[in-house]
Amino acid sequence: MLDQTIIEQLKTLTGKNNVLTKKVDMVAYTYDATADLPRQMPEVVVMPTSSEMVQQIVDLARTNRIAIYPHGAGTNLSGGTVPLKKGIVISFQKMNAILDIDAANLTAVVQPGVVIAALNSAVAPHGLIYPPDPGTVATATMGGSAAENSGGLRGLKYGVTKNYIMGMEVVLANGEKVRFGGKTVKNVTAYDFSNLFIGSEGTLGIITELTAKLIPAPKYRRTLMGVFKTLPDAGNAVAGIIAAQVIPATLEIMDKMTIRTVEDFAQIGLPVDAEGLLLVEVDGMSEDVVRAEAEAVMEEIIANNGDCQKANTDQERD
Ligand SMILES: Cc1cc2nc3c(=O)[nH]c(=O)nc-3n(C[C@H](O)[C@H](O)[C@H](O)COP(=O)(O)OP(=O)(O)OC[C@H]3O[C@@H](n4cnc5c(N)ncnc54)[C@H](O)[C@@H]3O)c2cc1C
Repeated sequence: MLDQTIIEQLKTLTGKNNVLTKKVDMVAYTYDATADLPRQMPEVVVMPTSSEMVQQIVDLARTNRIAIYPHGAGTNLSGGTVPLKKGIVISFQKMNAILDIDAANLTAVVQPGVVIAALNSAVAPHGLIYPPDPGTVATATMGGSAAENSGGLRGLKYGVTKNYIMGMEVVLANGEKVRFGGKTVKNVTAYDFSNLFIGSEGTLGIITELTAKLIPAPKYRRTLMGVFKTLPDAGNAVAGIIAAQVIPATLEIMDKMTIRTVEDFAQIGLPVDAEGLLLVEVDGMSEDVVRAEAEAVMEEIIANNGDCQKANTDQERD
């Protein structure tokens, strides 16, 4: 059991409204999206509003040897936010400010609790995007996705989180606050500590700020679906598309079981008798190039005995 004086100290450090101790308030922190993991109630959930508060929480936890669990949106699939040793869950839902959008330098500086989709909404008026797009973009946080090195449908062409985090501020286990990397592209001196922290799942320290790289939003896109009677045909079409030197933004293959599972859930009219399905999206800044790439994809689908369908509207594409 956590000593009541620790709870009182946390309230003094962060404000009493930023400390949760009732079971009813903490139940959402007992699990994450990992399947088949036992639930565990933390002893306290604390919601810092600054990196200095994070330092003080870490100091308090270290001095009293209490386990700490950073928590973004809890959508990870690796059990990282389940407080197996009870202790303190540090939730970043109140550190969710976009601190800077530097459109001229194609960067943004954010606190760890910023939701990925919120960053994309904020940079869209500047004609920019932050490409990493895990299936949970509408809820997952920048801190959690950096700690998981998340990727998504756009990963093939645009890469994953490690390709877009240029710098960060972290609080180490000794309470020290340090900065790695920055806004400059040729930031090559010494070890690449930002990348060490990407994918570290909260084990090396707590990310309290991130500098993200942005890119110009593609102006054109075409979305295609290949329907195949055999899975090897679908696989050969993937190989053919890459061999034709087309790198689609999205290139997803689904087998029969996946097609049926998705259709059962979403009921969007997927061909449930198909053995293989390819979802392909090409995008870019030039309409001619995007059209030529879509045609090359179509040719590969047909050459591998597939039936090719085009999305004619945004609704069909979604
Ligand atoms: C339906 C579904 C679809 C998904 N699709 C994808 C996908 O397409 N691609 C993909 O890669 N993943 C995917 N995921 C996994 C998950 O959504 C991502 O990894 C997501 O980016 C995690 O973000 P989060 O904010 O929920 O992090 P959390 O789950 O809260 O935390 C993730 C890890 O990071 C640590 N952490 C959180 N914040 C910090 C911080 N500030 N500093 C240090 N450590 C921290 C936590 O302790 C934990 O270990 C999916 C999950 C679901 C449920």
